[in-house]
Amino acid sequence: MRVLLVEDDHPVAESLRRGLGRYGFEVEWVTDGRSALEAGPCDLVLLDLGLPDTDGLDVCRELRSRGDVPIIVISARSEEIDRVVGLELGADDYVSKPFGMREVIARIRAVLRRSAQRAATDRPAPAAALPDRLTIDHRARRVLVDGAEVVLAPKEYDLLTFLCAEPGRLFSREQIMEAVWNTTWFGATRTLDVHVGALRRKFSGVLSVETVRGVGFRLLAAA
Ligand code: CA
Repeated sequence: MRVLLVEDDHPVAESLRRGLGRYGFEVEWVTDGRSALEAGPCDLVLLDLGLPDTDGLDVCRELRSRGDVPIIVISARSEEIDRVVGLELGADDYVSKPFGMREVIARIRAVLRRSAQRAATDRPAPAAALPDRLTIDHRARRVLVDGAEVVLAPKEYDLLTFLCAEPGRLFSREQIMEAVWNTTWFGATRTLDVHVGALRRKFSGVLSVETVRGVGFRLLAAA
């Protein structure tokens, strides 16, 4: 998980960077709006509103016009108006200074979870890339193969729908752990392997979950 941190206050940025690192996030730190708009792709933006070169709200608007990366606004301005404008401009959440690291992490996780759920449930899975034999009923949380239900544990279902949202896309272990298990704790990744194993068994001949060594997994229609 890559976080773009836009914050001109060095002590605040340093503590966020350390804290996020401890929770397994990779952080790219920039100190002004211009660099924020020039930064590479990321999974989430933490955006301070009081920036030296431009108003953070303009950065928020511009980032949102480019795509749907989750944005959490961080600001010392606690006025209700900023909060409302930020959310109207497309920010996903808002944290006021001073804040605790745990609060920031909790909000990041909630925002990432919501955006992963949106990706998994709103966007129709590209039909071309998934086999016709497979039907996912998101409302009932059921998965059918050739019309027959494949019984899945809740996390098996979550993992399957997460991977199915973008067939062929390589997801890192961290991305999957964060989206499905709400943790990036390294020790928990054994759980991921167990669930991948279960999906391979249950969808043998229908789907294949490829291991990309040292990175993560991608889901494809079985050859
Ligand atoms: Ca600032």
